[in-house]
Amino acid sequence: MPPSPEIPAELEPGRHHYWFAAQLPALTSADVERLAPTLPPADYRTLTAIQPQKLTLNAGTFTSPSSFGGPPFPPVTVEQQPQGLLLTCSCSAPAGTLCEHQALVLLSILQRKELRVFFDAAQRQELLRAAARDYGLEHATDLDAHFELTYNRPQVLVAPRQAGLFAVTAATTQELVSQLLPEGRGAVAAAGSRRIVVLSRHKYYGHLTVQLAEAVLTTAGKVKNPVTVLNPLDRLGTSDNLAELRFYSGLARFQHNYDEKRSTATLQALRAIVDNPENLPVFAHNPTVSDKLTGPALTPLQLRAAPPICICTSVSKTSFTR
Ligand SMILES: [Zn+2]
Repeated sequence: MPPSPEIPAELEPGRHHYWFAAQLPALTSADVERLAPTLPPADYRTLTAIQPQKLTLNAGTFTSPSSFGGPPFPPVTVEQQPQGLLLTCSCSAPAGTLCEHQALVLLSILQRKELRVFFDAAQRQELLRAAARDYGLEHATDLDAHFELTYNRPQVLVAPRQAGLFAVTAATTQELVSQLLPEGRGAVAAAGSRRIVVLSRHKYYGHLTVQLAEAVLTTAGKVKNPVTVLNPLDRLGTSDNLAELRFYSGLARFQHNYDEKRSTATLQALRAIVDNPENLPVFAHNPTVSDKLTGPALTPLQLRAAPPICICTSVSKTSFTR
């Protein structure tokens, strides 16, 4: 590509400029090397040492650590305009020549994709279109209007300009599902975990609540963390056994129990729980150990029904012994 001696007016004094009458994609490394014949061969390490101080679409300021004992590398600005490419450096090279700093910065941009995409519209569109697929925008005509690039050494990050744009990928879908599901349902059950029944007193009102949970038990029958609360209603569709259906319905009634009245329905629900047709381990929650359902706060219980009311007998001394 032919360089042009024409330099736009009103440039800063004390800095020398080089103007290409075409944009960067039309430029090759051979062009740069021909215009800077005294430049020693630029190896990979030299080119990757050049880093942007500022970098936005079509504009950047670049520098490099000075080599041992060598002079400092002055900041080189690169500005791409519709008519061409303007490079500026403050070293003492004669005006109108492409200095070694400008040449090295240009070679670095030309040969490093992560820098080139800021100046090469075709390569940038390729990158943005790949990212746009996750947002359903791959057919948008002006992807630069929807996405912005950020150079985060050593890579380029693509992010939507509008905070409201949401990517639909396997990872984001999984995250959304886990946020939408009630607590615990999105979690994967730990290997060897068992369903358990936990009797608690309501945190504020002190009446009985009964929760279905899931946790791993030790060989001694103690509960290991984490303890995951389950929704008993989810079990209703998995069994045709009447006792089990009554059991889980009863648990659902007591899971969020705000009513301490001894209605017939309440007593029937409690009897169905005490029946415990699947013989699930039962525990008492001790809120003085922890407000939350944790292993140390759970003590094993044995349930048995004794007419005319339900009796909960603890194997240890707990507040559930009546
Ligand atoms: Zn220079």
